Amino acid sequence: MLKRLIVLAALSIPTTMVAYQPLLFLSAHHASLQHAKFTLEHYRQEIEHHIDLSRRIIINTQSETKLCDQKNLWRLEYQSSIIRIFGYTDLNTKKICWSEGFVTKRQKQSITYLHQYSLSETESLSLVKIDNINALVFTKTISDQTWFTVFEPIDLIDNYCIHCYRVIWQTKETNLFNHHQHDLYRLNANLYNMRATFEFNLDSIQKRYYAYLKPFVIGALIGFNLLVLIGLIRQHFNSRKPECILKKAIQKKQIYPYYQPIIDTTTGQVTAVEVLARWDFNNYIVSPSEFIFIAESTGLIDPLLLSLFEQVEEQRQQYKDIFREIPFCFNVAPTQLERPQFVKELLQACRDIHSVHLPIAIEVTERQPFKDMDQAKQVLQMFTELDINIKLDDTGTGYGSFAYIQNLGLKTIKIDKMFIDTIATNDLKRTILDGIIEFGHTAQLHMVAEGVENEAQVEYLINHNITHHQGFYYSRPLTLDGLATYTDDLKKIESE
Ligand code: C2E
Ligand code: CA
Ligand code: CA
Repeated sequence: MLKRLIVLAALSIPTTMVAYQPLLFLSAHHASLQHAKFTLEHYRQEIEHHIDLSRRIIINTQSETKLCDQKNLWRLEYQSSIIRIFGYTDLNTKKICWSEGFVTKRQKQSITYLHQYSLSETESLSLVKIDNINALVFTKTISDQTWFTVFEPIDLIDNYCIHCYRVIWQTKETNLFNHHQHDLYRLNANLYNMRATFEFNLDSIQKRYYAYLKPFVIGALIGFNLLVLIGLIRQHFNSRKPECILKKAIQKKQIYPYYQPIIDTTTGQVTAVEVLARWDFNNYIVSPSEFIFIAESTGLIDPLLLSLFEQVEEQRQQYKDIFREIPFCFNVAPTQLERPQFVKELLQACRDIHSVHLPIAIEVTERQPFKDMDQAKQVLQMFTELDINIKLDDTGTGYGSFAYIQNLGLKTIKIDKMFIDTIATNDLKRTILDGIIEFGHTAQLHMVAEGVENEAQVEYLINHNITHHQGFYYSRPLTLDGLATYTDDLKKIESE
């Protein structure tokens, strides 16, 4: 089992890895699309924000001197991932002024106006190329003076993902990342009245996401495998619980019926047979006293009884002639008769056996009490209506035999071995045996003595007119083949 666990755990890693690949791909693909949309929106907001900022700066500074005091300037550099604004603050006045020199200097260099978009009568936004870098120039004219701010670079550059995006302005392609031609995702956007196409390289974005997701995926894999392993270990230990082993044994029919005959001493013939469960556990026969209580406390006694019913019926078919008149008695615990659904199933099983004309009987022990006597009476009535005899098992050992016999209307009692054992001894319980026998005769009950082991007991019982005996003196519990031979032999002896 441990080997199996290790193999399973080892196998689960590559299998989950394989299973995770498409999942990882899908999530990375989805995430990259989301990222593309988010980036675009972010870009648009930044540009709008900076145009807005520019407006305010220009309005603030236009009433001031055009040229800043070069000696007392504080360079204002506003920089985000995509846009930079350069300006200067006059530290004396604490007001913002723009360095003409800075712009002029730029202008002196090669500025190519690619496109100009008018935002209003006084404002415009131009797409320019300064020293081969794309830039947006916002201009605002106030009282014949033109103020402008420069945003650059305007092409999307993400420090983490160099080849992930590019912006294609409608006027002219920037061709920043032209070596990434495939797996492209395009989004068109309006920035004010300028149109730009954002091209996202999904392949690159996905690769980045793979790298980002990798620790999570590995963590999830380890977690998943741990869970599988814990599940397997728990299953392993659960499967070692007695009820689990018992359940499997019932399912595999490793618990099967043995049969002990009940002899009518007046005829010397088998008059009934008790079905007794035996468990073949790795070639070791487990006694019912070791597992019936587990079966009863876990409810497994129900499937066990039905399984015995099935097996008995199947086996008995082979010896229909021998056992035609002989009822086979099944042990049924009182708790079982208190479960309505099970009663239904049991009644059906009884009907099925009856339909093939094989008589059955039920033994209900008085070692356990019935919770509700009226209900018990009704349930037992249903069995009697099917012509199924109900015997009170282990009489004298438990919960008020006499009350049971009276209230439940039982006609047959099995006197427990505990009392039969007292025969020919000085045990005080012998007086109880005599009391039970006397009561039985007075109430005209059919009596069966259990656990008859010796001749003295046989004699005593016969002398007290108890003629139906079950015990090792006659036969131990047998296989059905053994019982058939035993029964047949008795028949032969009688006919001789
Ligand atoms: P029980 O119903 O009183 O069954 C009679 C028990 O006495 C059987 O033990 C039988 O082998 C044993 N026995 C019969 N004659 C003699 C004898 O002369 N001497 C001695 N020493 N023992 C004798 P077994 O088969 O071990 O069953 C023990 C108990 O387990 C049964 O007592 C019954 O209460 C329970 N049991 C057995 N099979 C089932 C079953 O299928 N369902 C239920 N609910 N209980 C079962
Ligand atoms: Ca019994
Ligand atoms: Ca008994």
